[in-house]
Amino acid sequence: MDRELTPFEKEMEQVLLQKRADILEKLAKSNEDFQAIAEQMGAKDSIDMSVESLVFKKMEAINQHDASILRSVDYAIIRIHEGRYGVCLKCGCKIPEERLRAIPYAVLCIDCKNKEEEESR
Ligand SMILES: [Zn+2]
Repeated sequence: MDRELTPFEKEMEQVLLQKRADILEKLAKSNEDFQAIAEQMGAKDSIDMSVESLVFKKMEAINQHDASILRSVDYAIIRIHEGRYGVCLKCGCKIPEERLRAIPYAVLCIDCKNKEEEESR
C-alpha cells in the first residue's frame, strides 16, 4: 500500500476523492437516513470495502445510480494503491489517460465497454 504513486495517479486520486465527497454530500442532502452514513464514510481516510458493501446495499435502495458510481470511485482509489489503476478489468490493456480524465472511475477500456453495452442491449 505504500508504493510511490506516479504524478498521474496522485492527480486522479485527488479527482476521485473529490468525486466521492460530492456524491456523499448529494446523497446526504437527498435523504435523512443517509446523512449519518455519509458522515461516517466521509470522515474515514481509508476505505474498507467489507464495511462499505453493507452501506452500499442501503445506498442502492436510495439512489442506485449514485451508489454504483460511488462504488466504482472507491474501487478506482483502491486500484490506484494496488498499482492497477487504468488497467482494463476485462482485457488487461492500459486505458488511455484521456479516457481516465473523462471518466476517472472507468475500469474498462473503450472496446470492452462498448462490447459490454452491446451485450446488455
Ligand atoms: Zn479492455
